[in-house]
Amino acid sequence: MCGQVPKILKLELTNACGLNCVFCGHAEQVRPVQSMAAVNAMGIMAEARDWGLVEVQPQFYGEPWLYRNLNEIVMYAHSLDFNVQYYTSAQCPPPEPFVYPDRLVFSVDYHTQELADKIRPGIEFGAVFRRITDLNGLPHPGCEIVIRCTECEENRGEIADIEDFWGPYCDNFVVVPETPVYRHFKTETPNADYDCRLPREQVVVLSDYRVTLCCNDWHGKYAAGDAREGLQKAYSHARLEGYRYAVYQKQWLNLCNKCGLRIRK
Ligand code: SF4
Repeated sequence: MCGQVPKILKLELTNACGLNCVFCGHAEQVRPVQSMAAVNAMGIMAEARDWGLVEVQPQFYGEPWLYRNLNEIVMYAHSLDFNVQYYTSAQCPPPEPFVYPDRLVFSVDYHTQELADKIRPGIEFGAVFRRITDLNGLPHPGCEIVIRCTECEENRGEIADIEDFWGPYCDNFVVVPETPVYRHFKTETPNADYDCRLPREQVVVLSDYRVTLCCNDWHGKYAAGDAREGLQKAYSHARLEGYRYAVYQKQWLNLCNKCGLRIRK
């Protein structure tokens, strides 16, 4: 559309996840569960690097620790001099021996099993605590360990306690509001003048190798192309260019009408 090179490659190595968190639409997922072959993921990364992208996030709508070749992927991304970051719920053991990304973000919005049961049913608080403290306790030069707490109605009023609890076990603690896409879509009118750059800054590759518009398209309704046949070719698919142009013109798509970015203050 404008020749701008995106910066970030979001590579959904797997869309599998063993949880059913209150603010996530994963349970309603319509895409079959699928994981990328490592060789394909690496080929896509290599093309992305040649194209000029600078960061890889090896996940989208699944739990990266469930992907058995994650270490290999992180090492390969580093060999290409990519910045690497991803989120994990720590719902399962990390790959061993662990290869740290540049930024490791734990999605943890609770500090007790009782609260965990309300927000992320099925997660074992004690196991998550051990995994986080084990990784934080090992030397991790060059890796920032972050606890990212999603503020939602279940933990409202307890955020300070959650931060006090987890603060000693991370380099940074951040709080973000729940995205309203799946649960409480607020009745506030989305900002019609919002300048959305995401579709031009990110390339999102789903686990079935289609490329989609932005990281809000969890169901792949706006996806097209096949990144195995060329990342730039898939990104430039006419359908995606049309969506990008519409967003650029602020001719909002249905997807955009439920986008948290347009109503966040
Ligand atoms: S849903 Fe629309 S407004 Fe939101 S990030 Fe995607 S393209 Fe931008």
